[in-house]
Amino acid sequence: MLTIDGSFGEGGGQILRTALGLSLITGTPFKIEKIRAKRSKPGLMRQHLTAVNAAAKVGAADVEGAAIGSQTLIFTPQNLLPGEYSFAVATAGSATLVLQTVLPALLSASASSKLTLEGGTHNPFAPPFDFLAKSFLPLINRMGPKITASLIRPGFYPAGGGRFVVEIEPVKSLSGFDLLQRGEIIAKRAKAMVASLPTIIAEKELKVIAHKMSWDSSCLHIEKIANSAGPGNIVTIELESENICEVFTGFGERGVKSEDVAEQVVKMARRYLVSGVPVGEYLTDQLLVPLAIAGEGSFVSIGLSRHSTTNIEIIKKFLGVTFAISQLEKSGWLIEIKK
Ligand code: ATP
Repeated sequence: MLTIDGSFGEGGGQILRTALGLSLITGTPFKIEKIRAKRSKPGLMRQHLTAVNAAAKVGAADVEGAAIGSQTLIFTPQNLLPGEYSFAVATAGSATLVLQTVLPALLSASASSKLTLEGGTHNPFAPPFDFLAKSFLPLINRMGPKITASLIRPGFYPAGGGRFVVEIEPVKSLSGFDLLQRGEIIAKRAKAMVASLPTIIAEKELKVIAHKMSWDSSCLHIEKIANSAGPGNIVTIELESENICEVFTGFGERGVKSEDVAEQVVKMARRYLVSGVPVGEYLTDQLLVPLAIAGEGSFVSIGLSRHSTTNIEIIKKFLGVTFAISQLEKSGWLIEIKK
């Protein structure tokens, strides 16, 4: 049994999710201690507990310590069971992070799966659904499986109640990819989403983006959501290039001006454009697990966050892979994964 120190590096929920995902694939049991020790409320929160319970179902696992606030967990998977599942985070906790936990194991399972996920779909500090659908999943599809994701209704903090469905046609074994060049930008789009909030919020956000990015109105879109459980606002900038699509998200918050939310997302998009590299910061930490499972692949990243460096150490505990990381002269970091 592997022992994992949950306070290591970034010391948050990522360590737990990566361990659960890789335990399902390798069949390796693990004990994790000091779960989320570096957070103000350590231990399992609702979102993490839902991820543990989801992994336990998918892996027919024996689990000790699966309770809110628990800082120690023992997870022993028995058998990987693809199939039809519904996983719901009762709060607005991120449902996309529950997917992040179980998806890797289902990509090369013996049969297809259909997952219905409920909770937050557009949470700060988690992959928003649009990022998942347009940026992350197309790259995973490049590795062999066929995954489709459909948003039934968005869920925003604090009401939650979002729902999306993910269908996974697995592949025998994942193939890696090399993503070293971004290529030309072939499409750009800004979308402001408002749910039970005045449309003027979206208009103000898009005005800032149009002005700062010098984009004309054909790039700007407002989406008014009628079926969410509570109010919410996000604004995304999508940059589609020949080899990758990156999605940057700003989250509207009570007390924060719409213009400032838009400024934030413009800043992220500009930094990415100037860098000239293909892979942004969030995508970097999220590509490490699937490429490590494939045992091959490389990409150029804008930079490695603490999430990424922590993830690498956890991956190395489960899989016999090496990561070669080098800073490029021009811009960015080359990450190479080998068996
Ligand atoms: P914590 O223990 O910090 O409460 P958590 O379980 O909520 O942790 P983190 O460990 O912080 O989550 O992991 C967040 C994940 O969400 C990372 O994989 C990160 O790449 C991803 N993420 C965060 N913000 C975005 C964003 N705007 N777009 C895409 N992905 C994001």
